Parts: sequence; C-alpha cells; structure tokens
Amino acid sequence: MRNETDKGAVNVGRHRRSCTICAHEKCADVEAGFVNWESPAKLAEEYGLADRTTVYRHAHALGLFEKRKRNVRAALERIIEKSGEVEVTASAVVAAIQPTRRSTLRDTGLSAMSMSTCCAAMLTNKFPEP
Ligand SMILES: [Zn+2]
Repeated sequence: MRNETDKGAVNVGRHRRSCTICAHEKCADVEAGFVNWESPAKLAEEYGLADRTTVYRHAHALGLFEKRKRNVRAALERIIEKSGEVEVTASAVVAAIQPTRRSTLRDTGLSAMSMSTCCAAMLTNKFPEP
C-alpha cells in the first residue's frame, strides 16, 4: 500500500476518500479486470462507474499499471482468444503488443525479435526451425 507524498505520487488516503471504485463492493473485480487487460471503458460500463478515467485514476493511485504490465500473459491470451474470430497477422500481433513490449522485454529478458517471433508463431502455428 502506497501513501507517498513526493512529487507525482498519489496520496492514497485522499484517493480512497473520493474514489467510487475503492468504495465499490466489486472493487477487487474491477482491479482484477484491469490487471488482466480488460478494457477500462468496458469495466466502467460493467460496474456502473462514471467512465474509463475513473478506472485509470484508481489504477494509477494503487499502482495497478505495473501489475498489468507484468501480466503480459493475460494480454497475449486475449489476443490469441480473438485470433479465431478475426484475421490476425504477425504484424498485427506485434502492433498489439507494442505498448507493453519495452517493459516486458526489460522484465523478462526476451529480445524484441524472440518475443515477436514467438507471438507470430503461436498465432500462425508456424514455428521457426530450432
Ligand atoms: Zn480507488
């Protein structure tokens, strides 16, 4: 739990007093959805919140962005799950993961090429020769 007062940090106590998600009976579900890469707009709609900025504000205050960035597996699972419904190309996959790629590469030690190749291979069932 954070309660930082340095520049740019959020005062969690102040946030909790005015946040509709913190007071929401399904707060844990909203947080789990955010960390699992569900759309903030859809979460807002599903849980009766004002809009997606409410979700982003809560996520920022409680440090959920870092948890979400580390949870790339969930994002990839969502992409793979959708791959049966739409035509997915390797370049589309690479574009889809672009926003998280830098932090993922840092966290996992994967090279950009190996991650892109792996994602494309999962979707096309064409794995490169070892
Ligand atoms: Zn909150």
